Parts: sequence; structure tokens; C-alpha cells
Amino acid sequence: MLNNLTIQTIIAASFGIGLALLFGNPDWLEARNPLYDCILLLKSVFLSSLRMLIAPLIFFSLINGITGIGNTIRLKRLGGVTISYYLVTTSIATVLALIAVFFIHPWTAYPPVMETVAISDNRLLDPNADSITLVVSGLLTQAFTNPFSALVDLNILGIVTNAFLIGLGMVLVLPADSPLFRSIRDINQVIAKILGWVIRLLPIGIFAILFDFTLKTAADSGHSAAFLNQLLHFSLLVISITLAHGMLVLPAIAYFFTGTTPVRLFRNIARPMLVAFSTSSSSATLPITMRAAEENLKIPPTVSSFVLPLGATMNMDGTALFEALAAVFLAYLFGIELTTIMIFTIFMMAMVASIGAPGMPSASMAGMQMVMLAVGIPLEAIAILLVIERPLDTIRTAVNVEGDLVGALFVSSRLR
Ligand code: ASP
Repeated sequence: MLNNLTIQTIIAASFGIGLALLFGNPDWLEARNPLYDCILLLKSVFLSSLRMLIAPLIFFSLINGITGIGNTIRLKRLGGVTISYYLVTTSIATVLALIAVFFIHPWTAYPPVMETVAISDNRLLDPNADSITLVVSGLLTQAFTNPFSALVDLNILGIVTNAFLIGLGMVLVLPADSPLFRSIRDINQVIAKILGWVIRLLPIGIFAILFDFTLKTAADSGHSAAFLNQLLHFSLLVISITLAHGMLVLPAIAYFFTGTTPVRLFRNIARPMLVAFSTSSSSATLPITMRAAEENLKIPPTVSSFVLPLGATMNMDGTALFEALAAVFLAYLFGIELTTIMIFTIFMMAMVASIGAPGMPSASMAGMQMVMLAVGIPLEAIAILLVIERPLDTIRTAVNVEGDLVGALFVSSRLR
């Protein structure tokens, strides 16, 4: 059931922890040691290569998303219904996550573990802005920045605003068959390929991250036990909310809007969901998803051939839900207090990041960094998520694919 990368990552993780426990020496933290230096090098190269992709990935995939939406709306009803369904269900998933984490946050029983780490200065909101006008003017200044400096400074709001305006301009000015649309799609494919290479390095990155982490915490076993508990609680919450969305919310939508009972739904979509679970990739599952839609759910090919490929790249309920929960979790671990505006920022950024993530294994890790930057969580924190990322990706990808299929059912019933 598990794909290779997952198995490799689990082996690498055990190797990292085991090696640090058996041969690691806490003195290495003070005095330099060539082996430990090499491991730290691997860790920082891996994290830097992930960070390298944030700006181009978000910028181009958003332009692609906006032009995709624009060209889709030209298709009038089909496009409008599809996009509305995608946006509404992704918002439901994200709000569900944020409401749940408001009530259930067992990790707060332990103190934040990373208090000492400095808060990132790329944060969207100025913590000293004490009036709404200052907050708004700070946001607007960041939003309307020239695209080059926004990309260089990793100014997320600037990148998102520029991508949105460029995409909108393209849709309004260029004919639908303009080569520029194609070029943007091509650039996206190239970036996705590079992201794929970086993700191939995940086992090496995880090995180095866990070796370093174990060495730092082995001396203080109480501390590491607390941290492992926090990680476990977080993972269980992610799994429960993802399952709630997949087993309750989406089947309820299918039942109330299309009359498909949950039993019929799951019987007909079990195969693509299993493939998504085992490949952790909505895009790789697409052929199976299309087949289940047409053969089992009897969705007309005119609808499925349009709704499903679009959904595989832009409709990711599980991903948005995960990113929102992860941001709240990491904010706690780093001792960052979240205001209402920051929670709203997390909501918006998780939505944007899920639209921007390609349907590949661990793809949301690049966009996740954008959500983190927005609220001032240091990018290093991504290492914490990477530790538990692979098993969680399986379930969220299955729910992503389920969301696309329910979307196809919904759209075909609306257009009947
Ligand atoms: N693996 C997910 C998908 O393909 C994307 C992600 O959340 O990483 O749908």
C-alpha cells in the first residue's frame, strides 16, 4: 500500500534517530565534529532547497490558477458552478479545521518547545500596529510592491497580489489561445518537476533533521517525550478532522445535492481513493479518478474531463485543512500568540496555498511555508512537519480526490 518514498522516509527517520541514540555525543553540540557538521550540512541544504521554491512556485502557480479560473469562467455555467463548488468546499474544510483546533488542542498541556527561536520578520502583520488603519496600511504597502522585490524579499502578500493582477490582466486582454497561457503552464510544469527532485531528497532531509533533533533532545528525555506527545496529538487531530471532512461533510454534500447515498458514493469511488492514498498524488491518480467518475458514477465525459483535471490541481480540501491546523500548531510550539486577524490570515493563506499546490506527494510543503511566513512562524519549523508529513499526506490526498469526485457529481447534477 505504501509508496516507495514513504517507506524510504520511514527507514531514513528510524536510521536518523537510531544513529543519534547509538553513536551521537551531546558534546558535538558545543565542539565541532566533522560527522555532525556533515549532517547539519545535509539538513540545511535540504531545507534551503525547499525554501528556494516558495516564491516561484506560488507566483507562477497562482497566475496559472487565476488564468485557469478566468478561462474557465468563459465557459460560463460549467466553469462558474465548478469554481464555486471548489471554493466553498475548501472554505468549509479550512473553517472546520480552525473551529476544531479552537476547541481541541491537547498539545497546549505541554509548554511551547521552541520559545527561544526568533520570530520571522517576513510576517504579514506588524505586531506593533495598534490601530486598524495601521494594520490596513501596512498590508496595502506590502501588497502593492513591485513584483521583483516581492519575489526577492519573499513578500507573500506582494507575490499573491502581483500574481492575481497579472493573471487577471492576462485573462482580460489576451485571447484564450494566447501562447502566454501555454508558457505559464509550461513554467509550472518545470517548477513542479524541480519540486519533485527536491521531494526525492526527503529521506536524506528527514535523516539529517531527526539525527540533529534526537541529539539535541536526547540529553533531556522529558523534553523530547513532551514534544513527541505534542506531535502525536497533532497528527491524531489532523487525521480526525480530515476523516470528518471525508466521511461526513463530503458525503453529506453528495447526498443532499445529488441524492447519492454514502454507501453508493464510497462503493464507486473506493478505488481512486485507495490509489490516492497509496500514491499521495492527486495528479497521478487522475486517470483512475476519471474512469471511476465516468464508469461508476455515470458522470458525462464533458463534465468529468473538465472538472476533474482542474480539481486535481486546484481543489484540495485535505491540504487546506492540514495547512490551517499545522499553522495553529506551529504557532503554539513557537510561542506565537494568534490574534483574530492572524487566524483570518491563516484561513486565506491556507486556501491560496492549497490552490497553488501541485497534486504531487508532499507538494503542500512548499505552500505551507507561505502560510508560516504570513504569521511569522520561522521557516525552520517546516522540519517539524516533515517528520510526520508522509503518513498524513496519504489520507489528505485521498480526501482531495474524493472532493474532486463529489465536485464532478455536484456539477453534473446542477447542469442536468
Ligand atoms: N499530496 C497532495 C495531493 O497530491 C498534495 C499535498 O497536500 O501535498 O493531492
